[in-house]
Amino acid sequence: MKHPDIKEILISEADIKKKVSRMAKILNKDYKGQKPILVSVLKGSVVFLCDLIRELDFAPVLDFISVSSYADSTESSGVVRLLMDLRESIVGRDVLIIEDIVDTGLTLSYLKRNLLTRKPKSLKICVLLDKKECRVKKIDVDYTGFVIPNKYCVGYGLDYCQMYRHLPYIGVLKPEIYRKPQ
Ligand code: 5GP
Repeated sequence: MKHPDIKEILISEADIKKKVSRMAKILNKDYKGQKPILVSVLKGSVVFLCDLIRELDFAPVLDFISVSSYADSTESSGVVRLLMDLRESIVGRDVLIIEDIVDTGLTLSYLKRNLLTRKPKSLKICVLLDKKECRVKKIDVDYTGFVIPNKYCVGYGLDYCQMYRHLPYIGVLKPEIYRKPQ
């Protein structure tokens, strides 16, 4: 059932499920027999990560990193800060960044630059959603789920002021929700 604050469902639960399975199949081929470190970018990518890893045939190592560029706003500040670093060393390891959404590309460019200084064996990027038209910084994404229009989305891990992450679909909020004090 649609949450009362949601104006429009962009991607249904069923479509997400199908897409995640398709992405896992591709990863199963590309990482067959390997033990890559999956770097999940907190907090938005956690739901995607949880669904994705349960369809993987290889044994990934999980690690988490937290960066901030939005600070409870719906527009990127353009300044990326590292809030929490990885626990694992990635030197000489195959690394796959798991991200919920790429918008301006600033966050992933920063992360890629940062992680490459640690000399991983390989570094690839897997995102569920891509707002291609919003790109400010060029970034090569290796695995993409859906290309979506320039609309601020919530659900399936994505929040607005830390809310709506639990919704099983990806949707757009009613405009009046942005004006209400949370
Ligand atoms: P970028 O640095 O590419 O502009 O943005 C990446 C980050 O911005 C994502 O990890 C995500 O946290 C946030 N972001 C970008 N677009 C959206 C959106 O439509 N909804 C939500 N909830 N977060 C977004």
